[in-house]
Amino acid sequence: MLCRLAVVNTSSPCAESSPPAKRSARPSPLARKLAQLGLRCPEDFVVHLPFRYEDETRVVSVSSLRPGMNAQIEGHVIGCQVDFRPRRQLRAQVADDTGLLNLRWLNFYASQRKQLTPGRLLRVRGEVRGGFSGLEMVHPRIGRADSPLAESLTPVYATMQGLAQPALRRLIDDALQRVDLSDTLPLAIRQRYELLPFDQAIKFLHHPPPSVSYDELVEHEHPAWRRIKFDELLAQQLALAAARARRRAQHARPLCGAGDLAERLERSLPFSLTPAQARVVAEIRGDLERDYPMLRLLQGDVGCGKTVVAALAAARAIDAGAQVAIMAPTEILAEQHFRKLADWLEPLDVRVAWLTGSQRVGDRRSNLRDVASGDAQLVVGTQALIQDGVEFADLGLVILDEQHRFGVDQRLRLSRKGEMGALPDALIPHQLHMSATPIPRSLAMTFFADLDISVIDQLPPGRHPVITKLVAEPRRDEVIARIMAEVRRGRQAYWVCPLVEESEALQLQTAVDTQASLAAALPDLRVGLVHGRLPAAEKNETMRRFQAGGIDVLVATTVIEVGVDVPNASLMVVEHAERFGLAQLHQLRGRVGRGTAQSACVLMYQAPLSKVARERLRAMYETSDGFEIARRDLEQRGPGEFLGVRQSGEALFRFANFETDGRLVESARDAARELSAAYPEWVGAHLRRWARGREDFLRS
Ligand code: ADP
Ligand code: MG
Repeated sequence: MLCRLAVVNTSSPCAESSPPAKRSARPSPLARKLAQLGLRCPEDFVVHLPFRYEDETRVVSVSSLRPGMNAQIEGHVIGCQVDFRPRRQLRAQVADDTGLLNLRWLNFYASQRKQLTPGRLLRVRGEVRGGFSGLEMVHPRIGRADSPLAESLTPVYATMQGLAQPALRRLIDDALQRVDLSDTLPLAIRQRYELLPFDQAIKFLHHPPPSVSYDELVEHEHPAWRRIKFDELLAQQLALAAARARRRAQHARPLCGAGDLAERLERSLPFSLTPAQARVVAEIRGDLERDYPMLRLLQGDVGCGKTVVAALAAARAIDAGAQVAIMAPTEILAEQHFRKLADWLEPLDVRVAWLTGSQRVGDRRSNLRDVASGDAQLVVGTQALIQDGVEFADLGLVILDEQHRFGVDQRLRLSRKGEMGALPDALIPHQLHMSATPIPRSLAMTFFADLDISVIDQLPPGRHPVITKLVAEPRRDEVIARIMAEVRRGRQAYWVCPLVEESEALQLQTAVDTQASLAAALPDLRVGLVHGRLPAAEKNETMRRFQAGGIDVLVATTVIEVGVDVPNASLMVVEHAERFGLAQLHQLRGRVGRGTAQSACVLMYQAPLSKVARERLRAMYETSDGFEIARRDLEQRGPGEFLGVRQSGEALFRFANFETDGRLVESARDAARELSAAYPEWVGAHLRRWARGREDFLRS
């Protein structure tokens, strides 16, 4: 299959026959533009499909024109003049037997003016507008009236400045001529799923006949579109299956120690596991005993108790003689995990080490030595864990907390850290990802089919649901009084400052000001402050004091958004809640209600609210179920934004729509199984056509 950077020659974008001299080492400006559009080789051009069409197959009468129409007429030029008021512009009038149409150009060439010689018969095409003196077209395209009419609708492609439609059309038509369009699906599959042949579908979409239903075309509902969307979804499923097969073919060390460290840890806990936690612990245990790497996503709402599950998995791995790394997205969370895990595990003689970017060089060096020698059995840290220079003696299990906060590349680096020995016999560490942002199951199946999923669907006993209050900004004083009452009862509160998107400096300033004003309003209380720009030591010290009850009210930016666990805190105030996303608000609310006290979350907002903001706050008010919140979030934002580019990589579909094409997703999943089982020799060709360049994402 030819796949080379598109070369400049417009008539043969990347033909094998291009003379070598034309291929320069540096891509030309045109090739760069094409690459930005994702057009790198002829196969890419073939699947660069129109997003709308123009009808140049017929000429209509002037009297049938209506504002908003895209139309083509033929008429004689009646007049043509250059105006200077209100601005310089070229104006012309054309007429057919039925009426007169005004034409206008704000920029024009002398040659255009010459074409508009009165008396001449012209073909004029453009969008009709209701103008000052009757209907007009601004910047219409004009041509000779005797040229043949188009036989099919004219495609309009996504393009960019400096690459005009006609040029792009030529490149695409050229690719359609030279690329092998033969089918990648056997006839039996096409028949079972009622699919058009690929070449027929693709040619149809580039050049549909004028008789087609325009709505079916642009809404992606035509059978030709169905074939394309099916192919795309199928490729996704096949690629994920391939990723799974690759993982099964990898080697990992089975982690089944003879000791009883995990049991001893469980006995030493001040609580017993919920049935949901116990089930998940058993699932992970089963995975760890296998000789290929685990890749499991542990989902569970905020506060359901994922950390202890991670600790028990770690204990099992350590018992089997392996090292375990736990990585958290923020320093605050990493430090909290470190303290908690050390509390739990050090009494059982496990050596726990700590690695972050902000550590003193000396400390870091000695910790690195412990990690490299294997003395440190459990290593807790931030992204610093995957930096170069961190060597593990025998890394057997990697745990990623709040995995949605990490990018695909970070996750990849983490899993490569543990590859020992020469491929293909390298040992890959087992991986456990944890997330409180639940991904609806259907979405997870589509995007993460290679992950096994465990769900904790139960909160520890004795928890009361957090009461959510929506309070308009002018009632700020009542909120402050509420803090006072809460602290008198021996509880603590968070006050989260608004996001200021325009400027981080402004955001910090707001936090500093808020602390000052709250301290003034609540002179008897200890009001602390934590934000991202504080030195790590200071941040950690503040968090420790809040944890220990030495601070009553913690003013914070979103640095406390994920993971922070202070069960005595029972009040969460979020200022300008309308500026936060749904998932974020749910995470923030999850910082309270972690103990047995009745907790509340006050969402302060500034009126007037936009429609979306109102929907979001309503969702927060109506439900506290993380899965339901995720469902609504997905509904409001669509899967692309919901998963975030960082998580979904390039995997989002170009043509299929995850929400409206649910049935097609199911069919594609079935077809993927069938194709792999009955026609394995076809799989490669299909993947080459549709899934080029995404392999790396799929491996993560
Ligand atoms: P998350 O799932 O949000 O990471 P954590 O692991 O931080 O939740 O747990 C929240 C709180 O619940 C912690 O204080 C933890 O010690 C406590 N916890 C966890 N499991 C149980 C349980 N089975 N019974 C009682 N409390 C528990
Ligand atoms: Mg957590």
